[in-house]
This record gives sequence, C-alpha cells and structure tokens, in this order.
Amino acid sequence: VDETLEISEIFLSIQGEGTRAGRPCAFIRLAGCNLSCTWCDTSYARQAAYTITVEEAVGQANRLGCPLVEVTGGEPLAQPGGPALLTALADEGFETLLETNGSLDISAVDERVVRIVDFKCPSSGQAEGNLWSNVQHLKAADEVKFVIADWRDFGYATRVVCEHELSDICTVIYQPVTGRLTPATLADWILKDQLNVRLGLQLHKIVWPGVEKGV
Ligand code: SF4
Repeated sequence: VDETLEISEIFLSIQGEGTRAGRPCAFIRLAGCNLSCTWCDTSYARQAAYTITVEEAVGQANRLGCPLVEVTGGEPLAQPGGPALLTALADEGFETLLETNGSLDISAVDERVVRIVDFKCPSSGQAEGNLWSNVQHLKAADEVKFVIADWRDFGYATRVVCEHELSDICTVIYQPVTGRLTPATLADWILKDQLNVRLGLQLHKIVWPGVEKGV
C-alpha cells in the first residue's frame, strides 16, 4: 500500500452536505481527480499543496479534535493511499465519511466508512464515467448524491434512482448546482414526481458566501 498522500487542504468546518449537514467536521481534501466536471467547485484541488503520510494525516485529524472526519477531493480513491487513510481513520475511532465521484470502485473501502457516492449527471460532462457496479456495494448507511443543473439532469437522476431502486438501499440526495438551478425549482420537481429523495443545499455556501477554500 502506498502510504503517502497528496493533500490539497486539511481544515475544520461545518459539514455542508448530506445527512450530517450542520455538524462540525474535519475535512481532509486529497488532491487530484480523474474527472473534469464543467461546474467543479474545487478545481484548486487539482494541484497538491503538500505530501504527507497516512499517519501524519491521522495526526492532523486528531489535532483538529472533531469526532467526524470527511475525506474528500478532488477524488480520494484516485490516490493509492486513499483507502488506507480511510481505514486508519476508522481504526482511530473517527466517524469517517468518504465523498467519491462514483466513477471508481468503492468495494475496497473499509465497511466502517460511510460512502457518499456522487454519481454524475449529463451537465457535468462526465456521466459516462459512472461505475454502476458501485450500486451493489452500497449499504444502508451510505448516501448517493446527484448534483442537478437542469431538467435533463433531473430526468437522468430519477431514471437511475428508479432503475436501481436506490431509495430502498440508502439515502438519496438531489442537490442543485449553485447559480444554475434554484432550490425552489428542484423542490417543486421532487414534490411533483413524489420522489423519496432528500433536497440537499450546500450549507457552507450559505454560512460563508463567496469563500471557496477551507470551508
Ligand atoms: S469529480 Fe468532483 S473534484 Fe472531480 S472534477 Fe468533478 S466536481 Fe471536481
């Protein structure tokens, strides 16, 4: 196992997304991504700021003193050290979350880790990368997220949710692309189609508008 990690940033913030939104959370943002989404809001994470070992990353998480830790990116599973970091955080007793883009195999990720799988919709330009075999590895505690920019994305996500019966497996979140689709429009579509999904808003963008890094 490669025990080194290319890091973009490590910081303490409020969890902005998913079922733990609003809770203090330490974030370990790994650098680099295998995709290139049109509306990517972390393109600065393409370049690594520094390299550390898995042990040092766990040490930094411990110093932040928060029981909830999310490993995000970039794409954490694009680095060989990503799964080792997740296991090390779970071993340390952290409630550990992984945010992953859905194009890479999640089966090697430690069972104790909550996997948040961000399958891509057409407007991202990356929907062809979705790895559907990931669905069979999802557990009830995991979450699937669709970031939705328009009506076509909504239709795509809803077809996927129905086809794979995702709402019966785990929490499904529909999140509007900031500046492209209003939360009210997306809420309206969810209600009209009587979908068993959760509307997700990026809380950190409401708390700290205009701040890109470190939140
Ligand atoms: S998968 Fe995430 S980090 Fe990678 S390009 Fe898309 S939005 Fe950006």
